[in-house]
Amino acid sequence: MSVLVVNAGSSSLKYAVLEPSGDPAAAARRLGGGTVERIGSDGARLRHDGPGGRAVDDEAVDAPDHAAALRAAADALAAHGPSLDDVTAVGHRVVHGGEDFSGPVVVDDRVLARIAELAVLAPLHNPVNAAGIRAARERFGDVPHVAVFDTAFHADLPEVARTYAVPREWREEHGVRRYGFHGTSHAYVSRAATAWLQRERGTDPGAARVVVLHLGNGASACAVRGGRSVDTSMGLTPLAGLVMGSRSGDVDPALAGHLRRVAGLDAEAVEEALNGASGLRGLCGDGDVRDVTRRAEAGEQDAALALAVYAYRVRAYVGAYAVALEGLDALAFTAGVGENSARVRADVCDGLAVLGVQVDPARNADVAAGPGDVVPVHPGAAAGPAVLVVPTDEEGEIARQAVDLLTAGGD
Ligand code: ADP
Repeated sequence: MSVLVVNAGSSSLKYAVLEPSGDPAAAARRLGGGTVERIGSDGARLRHDGPGGRAVDDEAVDAPDHAAALRAAADALAAHGPSLDDVTAVGHRVVHGGEDFSGPVVVDDRVLARIAELAVLAPLHNPVNAAGIRAARERFGDVPHVAVFDTAFHADLPEVARTYAVPREWREEHGVRRYGFHGTSHAYVSRAATAWLQRERGTDPGAARVVVLHLGNGASACAVRGGRSVDTSMGLTPLAGLVMGSRSGDVDPALAGHLRRVAGLDAEAVEEALNGASGLRGLCGDGDVRDVTRRAEAGEQDAALALAVYAYRVRAYVGAYAVALEGLDALAFTAGVGENSARVRADVCDGLAVLGVQVDPARNADVAAGPGDVVPVHPGAAAGPAVLVVPTDEEGEIARQAVDLLTAGGD
């Protein structure tokens, strides 16, 4: 079975045709796909690739909105393949499932309306996710569409981890709780790390304690025991937790009131700055770890401080989660920074000797990890927690969950 996966972001739309593996800990096979970028601008472009990521098309397209971008993607698939003849479902990434969706669901009009309503919790994401689904249902009306939520992996967080200490009315009437995000990534990476632990160290998968560090533009940590999320660093929204490219992560909640009093900023202006002008960008002017690292290595103090704050926050979460998990079997690095930055992995792990975490500098500097790989970077004879680099497979996980739901008779 192959699945067309659609991931509609704020100004981009990614699409791919994937064949999930029969082994749930293995990456899906990508037959081809692409990206439409800069939707809504005159400079919208479509890049399309075939098997093995080989580029087959790169052209300007007319994409004033997500519906037009989806049509351009469908046209590229029709012109260049892969063929959609064997596609049995369309899987959609949806950021926020609120308290309504704790797993993947077949989309009907009622589900789509609810996803759109959940924009109150994710104003930047759910409206474009809903637009992508609407357009895809129009173009591919004869196969089931499945929504897969970033929040779903965390739906069963223990009550102590999901509950904020705020007034009862906010919690009961306004859905104020920790939801957590990056769920498809945390699910796949923790499963791959757990399979590695079972294979290499004989760890019981039902008891394996893994902390996943998804470090991309957005970043979150997740504590996973026996395959279940028991805590995660993002909260009601994807602003909480770790320091990110342009997002602050945790700050004192009194910040908004303080800035209103001293600078006349309203709550929306503060939220916008915490989302877009903070994190690494707020600390040193650059949000991309590659640029920040280059500048830090050239001796620029603000860039060095930015990386130090970033790593310190990650370590603090790993420490907290080792306590939540009552121990640690593996630390798994994933996403753009986690997979590619040896410097960040070393900075994070250097401060974790208290947990027995060790990194082999030569192995860490020389990671070439591809789809489906799990690459250890701890010293060969280390008795402490495994330190693993695991390329994430969010699109493959969406395809797998869609297939599982449909073959379980969920439609
Ligand atoms: P997204 O959250 O948008 O899916 P990614 O997971 O692709 O993002 O991560 C993107 C980030 O990864 C970039 O902003 C950059 O900071 C970081 N990154 C990518 N390649 C490297 C690299 N070779 N070294 C350090 N950081 C990298």
